Amino acid sequence: MNININNELLKSGFVQEKIPENINLVEEITRLKREKNAILLAHYYQKPEIQDIADFIGDSLELSRQAAKTDAAVIVFCGVHFMAETAKILSPDKVVLLPAMDAGCPLADTITGDDVKSLKRQHHGSPVVCYINSSAEVKAESDVCCTSSNAIKVVASLPDRKVIFVPDANLGNYVAKQLPDKELILWQGRCVTHAKVKPNDILQMREKYSEAKILAHPECEPAVVELADFVGSTSEIIRYAENSDAQVFIIGTEVGVLCNLRVSRPEKHFFLLHPGLVCPNMKKTGLQSIYEALVNNQYQIHVAEEVAEKAQHAITRMLKVV
Ligand code: SF4
Repeated sequence: MNININNELLKSGFVQEKIPENINLVEEITRLKREKNAILLAHYYQKPEIQDIADFIGDSLELSRQAAKTDAAVIVFCGVHFMAETAKILSPDKVVLLPAMDAGCPLADTITGDDVKSLKRQHHGSPVVCYINSSAEVKAESDVCCTSSNAIKVVASLPDRKVIFVPDANLGNYVAKQLPDKELILWQGRCVTHAKVKPNDILQMREKYSEAKILAHPECEPAVVELADFVGSTSEIIRYAENSDAQVFIIGTEVGVLCNLRVSRPEKHFFLLHPGLVCPNMKKTGLQSIYEALVNNQYQIHVAEEVAEKAQHAITRMLKVV
């Protein structure tokens, strides 16, 4: 990939990984992948050098679907823990490796399976919809999963008026606005990265780039979403920017998306809505850690059978809705 996002990463204070000079990591990774019958899946928020060598790039659900249908024996999941867990739930017979063991998600970590159980007790009879950005344990206690692109459809598909929505309150608020007939009980979790964007950032960008379209992820706060020209999931933002007639876009989601867009639409101009739109956990995976994951078969993701079965039910139910 000849267009990168290093300027945005540097502005955010992000330090690039130091790669040893005596080894060609890309060549070694390619050789090991062949040797071990492994596939490399990368989320859109991964570093450019990882998106460059990935077999498939996508959002968390697209990647899990890929994981489920691949013939590979080993899946190296370049993303964060809940995503690798989802891949393991959908592909229990495959080895799923997360190269950066500590790549977690602060949003997913705001809630446990016990929290979901107690919410259910509190709001007796109400179904629980959990955003895919949650642990296997939370999915297992939920009735149905959703992603940011299908959350509205999933909630609308439930016959109940009152619905518990976990863990992202901003996404929940967005869904609630689109479905005024529903009463959503929201868990107050937030993505720390998307929550950095404030309405003033949009106002300033509008002043600077009056012709630009401003695209925001629903994990941003409601006042930001309100001011955006388009609101959508990571994949929807990419598709919108690629297909729109506009030439200038302000991207209100993680910086990794710029990498993709600047390659697919080099004639257009893309700017980040806020310099802090860098997920530190997504940037923990590097070429070195992928190489080590393949050499040492690390770090293997395990999900207890009982939890996996229940979590799979919530994911499958979502897949039937959309
Ligand atoms: S961008 Fe936000 S929701 Fe996504 S992995 Fe990072 S912290 Fe979690």
